[in-house]
Amino acid sequence: DEHPLRPDFEEQDHRENELRPRLLEDFLGQEQIKANLRVFIQAARERQESLDHVFLSGPPGLGKTTLASIIAHEMGADLRVTAAPALEKPKDLAGILTSLQEGTVFFIDEIHRLKSSLEEMLYVAMEDYEIDWVIGQGPSARTLRVPLPRFTLVGATTRPGMVASPLYTRFGIPVRLDYYTQDELAAIIRRTSSILEIAIREEAVLLLADTCRGTPRVANRLVRRMRDFAQILGEGVITGAVVREGMERLNIDQYGLEEQDRQILRAIVEMYQGGPVGAETLAISVGEELDSLEVFYEPFLIQQGLLQRTARGRIATPRAYAVLGLPGDETGED
Ligand code: ADP
Repeated sequence: DEHPLRPDFEEQDHRENELRPRLLEDFLGQEQIKANLRVFIQAARERQESLDHVFLSGPPGLGKTTLASIIAHEMGADLRVTAAPALEKPKDLAGILTSLQEGTVFFIDEIHRLKSSLEEMLYVAMEDYEIDWVIGQGPSARTLRVPLPRFTLVGATTRPGMVASPLYTRFGIPVRLDYYTQDELAAIIRRTSSILEIAIREEAVLLLADTCRGTPRVANRLVRRMRDFAQILGEGVITGAVVREGMERLNIDQYGLEEQDRQILRAIVEMYQGGPVGAETLAISVGEELDSLEVFYEPFLIQQGLLQRTARGRIATPRAYAVLGLPGDETGED
């Protein structure tokens, strides 16, 4: 695994489901979001109504899919899951919408990638709980109005800025997930270790919490890898020493950076004299998709004070030089 820290790589492990919290109370951290959702869910249940449509945004691996399934569970409703790229034609979307039950939670991942030809249908479905279906062609064409049950749409995206505003405004409950704090990650790491039945020392918990990019999915993956190291190289306990050795083997440094992060910083410093360099150029220079660069690598590098986004392009900060073990930026720009 060349990218142990990338939360956008899907887990192949069937245990992913075992780790997924089923109830709101098992969803650790994000207290304010949980408290509000609890109120909205309870209120809808008491009124025996379906929940308003929910919009979930935030970087990959922070719990959007998990929250969608928790919402369905807490509402006592069915869950239907799809991703926008799988919806090609109007009939793909219409087929799902007309098969929903009253209250069903319909989860559309990557909703920013919904085809514009389908957006109109979704607007009407969300607002009026019906779709207009055109039968036939030319002068003989007629429109059939098909009523839909009161479903709940949960739309998720890593790129909220790319969601058309008429779509966004039709969601009654917008939720923005942010990176988790060290305490929250530590709690998630302890929970995961206990489900996987592996002993873990407190020092190891804290080291992992600092290395997992604020992302539960990455935390879970690191716990699994450290469990492997502990089992084969250690005494079957994840200790601080196991984590340090494991991190070295996975090419993750003490700052929680992996090879691709360092390569991005090195490219800015060595190929573009510290920047500014445009995002497209930078992505090509490191052989990365622009989308991964912007959605996954950069937010963390920015949060760590290693990279800045400016109007003229990306800049490596003085701290980036230090982390790379290079002499400082001598152009006097900063
Ligand atoms: P996203 O849909 O945002 O990419 P997921 O919902 O798939 O993220 O979450 C990835 C994994 O991380 C889940 O399988 C779950 O085990 C774990 N996870 C996410 N959020 C939490 C949380 N708040 N508490 C515990 N585990 C979490």
